Amino acid sequence: AFRPAERIASVGVSEILKITARAGALKRAGRPMIILGAGEPDFDTPDNVKEAAIRAIRDGATKYTALDGSPELKDAVRAKFERENGLVFAADEVTCGAGAKQILYNAFMATLGPGDEVVIPTPYWTSYSDIVAIAGGTPVLVPCGIEAGFRLRPEQLEAAITPRTRWLLLNSPSNPSGAAYSAEELEALAGVLRRHTHVWAMSDDMYEHILYDGLAFATLAAVAPDLRDRTLTVNGVSKAYAMTGWRIGYGGGPAVLIRAMAVVQSQATSCPSSVSQAAAVEALNGPQAIVAERCAAFQRRRDLVVAGLNAVPGLQCPVPQGAFYTFASCEGLLGARTPDGGVLRSDRDVADYLLEADVAVVPGACFGLEPFFRISYATSDSELKTALERIEAACARLH
Ligand code: PLP
Repeated sequence: AFRPAERIASVGVSEILKITARAGALKRAGRPMIILGAGEPDFDTPDNVKEAAIRAIRDGATKYTALDGSPELKDAVRAKFERENGLVFAADEVTCGAGAKQILYNAFMATLGPGDEVVIPTPYWTSYSDIVAIAGGTPVLVPCGIEAGFRLRPEQLEAAITPRTRWLLLNSPSNPSGAAYSAEELEALAGVLRRHTHVWAMSDDMYEHILYDGLAFATLAAVAPDLRDRTLTVNGVSKAYAMTGWRIGYGGGPAVLIRAMAVVQSQATSCPSSVSQAAAVEALNGPQAIVAERCAAFQRRRDLVVAGLNAVPGLQCPVPQGAFYTFASCEGLLGARTPDGGVLRSDRDVADYLLEADVAVVPGACFGLEPFFRISYATSDSELKTALERIEAACARLH
């Protein structure tokens, strides 16, 4: 009989993917389902980026490149870090992989052993705890509730650190909550890290460019340069340039860590796709106007969704600062009866109930914090309006 390895025994296939698959099957069966689960922009990859990839194919850039990124891509990454974050990295301090996910994976595989702990503010992107588990480490989940704006406070970090803590993992703006840390808040967390010199910090900046209301983006390595020799800054082109399928992510950090990460990648995938690397070079070096235009579109949709959800009795939706998700509390719906006599006892029940009304959302349980649900508003205004009408009507049928 088939027996999976122990290291994946506790790791399930992503529940988000399962929910999305179920909603997709209902849609194919003819239901007018609106799926608000996608973790990717609905926009297309910019034309200049596509053209760069086509040129690369024609020019024969179709072979293995250097292991963790071509010199051109590493230069583009270094220029990006300097231009946008004020972070100056040497060539041996940056690394490129098949998506930011591979960068996170490389880093945890390269550093974690049994009993090593990673502090993860909750709600969190599901993959964090699963990757830590596969790498043999132990996720330490710290609840950061709605009243704290879904942000980790310094005293919580202090309390979570043990002699076994290897990493603090920060994600700002956050998937799923959209919460972003200000420079002052990061500085306060840095104060705690300074007292615990064995703890490294990983900053997942994937949603850097999807930040609203004129807020200035802040990242730990720039706020606390004295922590640079134990900080890994992770980013990628997936969200900023609508390039999820190209699979290019990157990181900047101390050379000792970057070298160890390259060892992991060398025995998993070797270099990322040469064609995608050429596309990413153009994305990072080329015109940037489209990034801000798309951010403005996301902000309009955020306002639409937040207003729509807050108009529904029983729902409470804080205003996210960034990313393209809302994370609304459905606590006010718990205990309510559905028209067919069922009782909503959890956010999973709420998500199931909304699925019957042809709207697919992801329950907060998938992100470690209940009772909430996540909506991805990376879809058209008209779909969002219809979805909000359906949610309001479904909730009005509860008693
Ligand atoms: N980090 C966060 C918070 C994400 O939401 C995602 C994708 O959903 C990633 C990292 C990974 O992105 P990619 O592997 O496409 O670069």
